[in-house]
Amino acid sequence: MAQTLRIYHIDVDQASATLFVSPAGHTLLVDSGRNGHGPRILAALQQAGVDRIDFFVDTHYHRDHYGGIDEVVDAGIPVTTAYDRGDKGFLPASKRHDPTYKDYDRTVGNTAEQLTRGETIPLDPLMTVTCTNAGGVVLGENDPPHPAGEENDMSIGLLVAFGGFRYWIGGDTENPTEAKLAARDLVQDVDVYVADHHGADNGSSADFLADLRPSVVIISNGSNTRFRHPRASTLARMRRLTPQPAIYQLNKYLGTGDDGANVATDMIGDPETVEDDGTILVTVDQNAASYTVSYRTTTASFGVKAPIAPALAPAAVAGGRVVITKLLPDPTAKPDRRAERVTLKNTGAASVDLNDWFLRDSNGRVWSLSSLAIVAAGRSATVRRNGMPMSLDNDGGTVALVDPAGQVVDSVSYPASQPGVEIVTGH
Ligand SMILES: [Zn+2]
Repeated sequence: MAQTLRIYHIDVDQASATLFVSPAGHTLLVDSGRNGHGPRILAALQQAGVDRIDFFVDTHYHRDHYGGIDEVVDAGIPVTTAYDRGDKGFLPASKRHDPTYKDYDRTVGNTAEQLTRGETIPLDPLMTVTCTNAGGVVLGENDPPHPAGEENDMSIGLLVAFGGFRYWIGGDTENPTEAKLAARDLVQDVDVYVADHHGADNGSSADFLADLRPSVVIISNGSNTRFRHPRASTLARMRRLTPQPAIYQLNKYLGTGDDGANVATDMIGDPETVEDDGTILVTVDQNAASYTVSYRTTTASFGVKAPIAPALAPAAVAGGRVVITKLLPDPTAKPDRRAERVTLKNTGAASVDLNDWFLRDSNGRVWSLSSLAIVAAGRSATVRRNGMPMSLDNDGGTVALVDPAGQVVDSVSYPASQPGVEIVTGH
């Protein structure tokens, strides 16, 4: 059976709305365009043959990202779980009293869960969707005492993996957070990169692009002559990559005589930029380890950079086997949410790259293991919780070790713990 993932980059002009339809038919909508864009999202849902949104993510509190969701919900499309970056109590009163924000809050914002780095969205058993950054904080960083930063740069970033296919989308994430992601090598070698901040000059920094090395870049932009997206300087940075990525725009920028720019017209979803027909669809076929980029009558095919055979776990392929050897649910160094830790050991004969691996409890909460990177044969590595969502319950629980293909590689159930005493699993 064909295992396909479809990603609709919906034409919402100078805004963003991206719909994922997983192999099992589950849906994730990342952002919802501006006020008035609800009908475009409804049309995309209809085109995709789905009538509900299982997961919605508002990347940040700007109206070009949450503006249309109330229209979608009010049209009868249910949203089961909504996420945003939380910390609404720190928003200025002008934002909280803004009518568009209030519509967002009324329909999904007031029940939205805070998504933090390290957390995953349980979209589909064949996929992992990992939050790499939120609120200006990246994987492996401690929580700041209070949120600080520019609203765009506090956007949620998501790394989406399906077999070997890797895709990153980060709303309007800007240079400060990109620099931290790049310094820690947290998002490397993706197939598709959705350009940060609509192709603005303060996103898609050279260091971040050098980590991403995307085969395909998709820019969600409008014709807007004030924002001038994408910028010529941003396109130039993307074009300096080797190999050069295929760069697509949803719309054509229609200004002249300034620093806005365009890719070639045949790489633009809606070259006239007067209608809503610029949607770009990415369809990933896991069995073929390839994907297509389609718009209007154009379709281009790409091979997945690092395909993983679906039937074989990477650990089995590499001859490595990673197990959970120790847990510390009740550390004497407080608080638990920072100091809890788990030790893994690579008992196999080959090194294992733990990028995109995670630990998961029975409630689906996780710790990302990407910060551990490569663990050599016979070596151990310890990951601290550092604010990540999964809790090692002091009364006992179950923790699974999950690889990027979604397979449980090891699992331990542990009893009630003593303060400061590390539990040795015997694995
Ligand atoms: Zn925006």
